This record gives sequence, structure tokens and C-alpha cells, in this order.
Amino acid sequence: MEIVTIPYQGRFRGNRKIEYVYNNIENIINEAAGKVISASGGLVRLTDDVLHFGFTDMGTCVPFFTPSAISRCILPFRPGKGACSTYILLMGTEAFLSDYLGRTTFDKMLVHEMTHKLLMMNWPNHNKLPLYIIEGIAIETAGQGDDIIRTYRRHPFRMPRPPMHLYPYAVVKFRERFGGLPLPEVYREIGRLQSSL
Ligand SMILES: [Zn+2]
Repeated sequence: MEIVTIPYQGRFRGNRKIEYVYNNIENIINEAAGKVISASGGLVRLTDDVLHFGFTDMGTCVPFFTPSAISRCILPFRPGKGACSTYILLMGTEAFLSDYLGRTTFDKMLVHEMTHKLLMMNWPNHNKLPLYIIEGIAIETAGQGDDIIRTYRRHPFRMPRPPMHLYPYAVVKFRERFGGLPLPEVYREIGRLQSSL
């Protein structure tokens, strides 16, 4: 897999944390991909594909109320209607820089988006599955589920309007359907579901 980084600009230039990510991008991406691959029990793999990785200076576009709201800061960028995502675009760089967004949360965001990316690489049909499955598997692979539920229970009024509510909804629905199954089994089931579409 080839990794292409999009140069960042603006007020984040020269920031040490971003420099660190840029200088270690290959390792950081591979580490996130490794977590997804192992969660899937080896069912999904990195295929020969190009990954564009970029920072944007768009922090104000995303409302930052809670750490789990920040999990929306990295969004898979779809460069065309229905096109497979070949980008992981880091948005909301401000949140990334803030004190309460530590490496763990950043790593979880990356694993979440990497799950979307790897599923798109391996199972193009998975995009036709219900959204709660698409988001649920990314959330659970990244280990964000409990945090999302906890935050939502504590601050439902602070969670931004839908589609943000999609996240707690996805966790609940996903756990209802797959709860108790080990993740590799869930991946196997999702693979079966998407191949039947
Ligand atoms: Zn997602």
C-alpha cells in the first residue's frame, strides 16, 4: 500500500504533534491497520491501494463537546459519489492538539477510520449494509463503544444533533445484534452478509 500525505498548511505548521504524525505516518498507519486485521482474525487485508492522509485546517467545522464527539474528527473522505474511500482525512486538528485528546483517543480514531478503509478495500459491498453495522464494526474495533455510550448517557443534551446520534444508536443496535460474539466471528458474519448483497 502506498501512502500519500497531503501537505498541511496554516496555523498548524510546525506543530510538534503533527510533525510527529507526519514523520511516522507509515508506522502509525500500519499499526492501526494491524489492529483491524487482527480484530478481523485475518479476514481483511491491506490490498494494493493508495492511501491519502491529510490534515486540514478545519477545526471549527466540527463541534467539539466531548472526547467521543471528537471521534468524528477523522472522516473517511469520499472523493466522488459512491466512490471507495482512498483517503483518511484528519479534520478538526484543533481537537487533536488539545490536551484531553491524548494518543489513545487519536489511535482509536485512526483504527475506526482504518476499519472503514479496510472493509471498503476488501468488501466493496459492505457499504450497502445498514449504517449501524458499518459504524458499529468500526466503533467496536476501535474500542470506542463504551465511551460513546457513557458520554451519551451523561451528556445527551450536549451531543450535537443527528447524524451525531448515529453513534450511540449504532452501538446499541450493533450490540443487540452481535453482542457476545467475538470480533472475528462478527467480521465473518459481516463478510457473509455483504457477499449476499
Ligand atoms: Zn465511522
